[in-house]
Amino acid sequence: VSFEDCRVPAGNALHGPGIRLLEMALNASRTLIATTAVGVAKRIRDLCMDYAETKIAKGAPLVDHPVFAGKLGQIEMQIEVMANQCRAAGRQFDTIMNGADPATEFLRHGTLRSALAAKMFCGQAGWQIADTGSQMFGGLGYTSELPIGKLLRDMRYVSIVEGGDDVTRDLLFNRYVVPVAKRC
Ligand SMILES: Cc1cc2nc3c(=O)[nH]c(=O)nc-3n(C[C@H](O)[C@H](O)[C@H](O)COP(=O)(O)OP(=O)(O)OC[C@H]3O[C@@H](n4cnc5c(N)ncnc54)[C@H](O)[C@@H]3O)c2cc1C
Repeated sequence: VSFEDCRVPAGNALHGPGIRLLEMALNASRTLIATTAVGVAKRIRDLCMDYAETKIAKGAPLVDHPVFAGKLGQIEMQIEVMANQCRAAGRQFDTIMNGADPATEFLRHGTLRSALAAKMFCGQAGWQIADTGSQMFGGLGYTSELPIGKLLRDMRYVSIVEGGDDVTRDLLFNRYVVPVAKRC
């Protein structure tokens, strides 16, 4: 959306560091988006377990195959790290919020590294989990016959909304990698 020669009554104008204020609000919602990936990932894990109990491969239930155990073990590790990063982001947000001057502190920080990392990591690890999960159902994983097809699409949104990964990577670089003196 763009406006040209658009007159705004003085009383309606918003003042202050707009982009910084937006970043402050996104700290909470990016963490919340990341946590949705944890929930979707757990649901995928549980569906895989249910399916593997009934699916027979090479004369035995899939759940008894070491390859299945390896995949589910990998998923569990990813879920654990995803959840821990969400907790870290929540803790940092709460620490600032419960401090003496949260408004000034949030303004100073702008976008929080922990919240960006939570959304990016949960989106990426969650996508790997959705990929593994959908593949486990074979051709059924591609269809909309089972919940896995929808869960795969649900997971996709984590890496898109409130800043796609290309944008958040750039933000992390400019806010946390570039030396302080050179930051814009
Ligand atoms: C399920 C869902 C819910 C949503 N809910 C809301 C909502 O409630 N409110 C709302 O306002 N919006 C919402 N959105 C919109 C969402 O925020 C945008 O889709 C998202 O920010 C990406 O913007 P875009 O679609 O314009 O893609 P684009 O920004 O056009 O991205 C297209 C491509 O360009 C790349 N790209 C873009 N910018 C850069 C850059 N700076 N550097 C490098 N590469 C770049 C991207 O990585 C991508 O590959 C929602 C989207 C989805 C999917």
